[in-house]
Amino acid sequence: MQLLDGKIVSQAVKDRLKVQTEERLEAGKKVPHLAAVLIGNNGASETYVGSKVRSCAEIGFKSTLIRLEESISEDELLYKLDELNADFDIDGILVQLPLPSHIAEEKVIERILASKDVDGFHPESVGRMVQGLPAYYPATPYGILLLLEHYNIETKGKHAVVIGRSNIVGRPISIMLSKPDYPGNCTVTVCHSQTKNLKELCLQGDIIIAALGRPEFLKADMVKDGAVVVDVGITRVPDASKKSGFSIKGDVDFEGVAPKCSYITPVPGGVGPMTIAALLMNTYKACVAKD
Ligand code: NAD
Repeated sequence: MQLLDGKIVSQAVKDRLKVQTEERLEAGKKVPHLAAVLIGNNGASETYVGSKVRSCAEIGFKSTLIRLEESISEDELLYKLDELNADFDIDGILVQLPLPSHIAEEKVIERILASKDVDGFHPESVGRMVQGLPAYYPATPYGILLLLEHYNIETKGKHAVVIGRSNIVGRPISIMLSKPDYPGNCTVTVCHSQTKNLKELCLQGDIIIAALGRPEFLKADMVKDGAVVVDVGITRVPDASKKSGFSIKGDVDFEGVAPKCSYITPVPGGVGPMTIAALLMNTYKACVAKD
């Protein structure tokens, strides 16, 4: 069993971007600038946005963190996005999800200019991705592809079983793994909460992507020998032994499943850092597109 180490691979991506950003600076070109919008005081969202902003600083990107009150109205948020859209210096905009329940997620996602949609959630980005056109790929699935690519995981003709069909992970990764080039060319099965024979389907998976948000859901008896297992799940579970009062669990029972795998991602340190790396890649691309 070999770990698909998101920390190492994301660091390699960041090192490359750092050099490219220094080269831009030396050539008198603008450096990439990410605007991150954080609404309310959700602890997990704070952590994710904090990592994204720190990563920008590490590699020489500019970043602007916009903190907004939980009580902000939908119109005020949309107005803020219009401002960011109009600001030439800002290349990429991300609004950390989830949003307060009084704000419609689709409206917010659609308001971000597709050219600044570095999270890859805008319908235009998704549509282009589905049609195989150049696009900002959704950050988490894109990060998974970068990880598979880094370790030269064979994907052609493999059966990929994706558990979860959300717009941000399950659905896009299922489409990306079926695209007709590397890393893709998989035969893909998408499983979800209404799937009847999940265990049988998982047992057929050469590659399993677990993205359902149920801690340690995927057990050893659901995985065939030699499978590649990618664990997207991040759930905070109460843990009195931790200073924070919680620990982070993935969707895979790592202890049980890892010995059966050829490759597996850890949680934390697998897909999480790759999501940030992918976001930075998209932001760099959005900046270069303006040259
Ligand atoms: P979601 O709640 O939007 O979707 C979950 C999906 O899982 C749904 O499509 C549902 O049908 C399916 N599902 C739920 N229970 C199931 C079951 N018992 N059997 C089969 N399918 C089932 O979640 P999401 O936003 O896609 O996120 C999934 C997980 O990935 C969460 O833990 C989330 O925190 C994590 N996540 C991690 C990253 C990262 O960077 N590592 C990024 C995004 C999401």
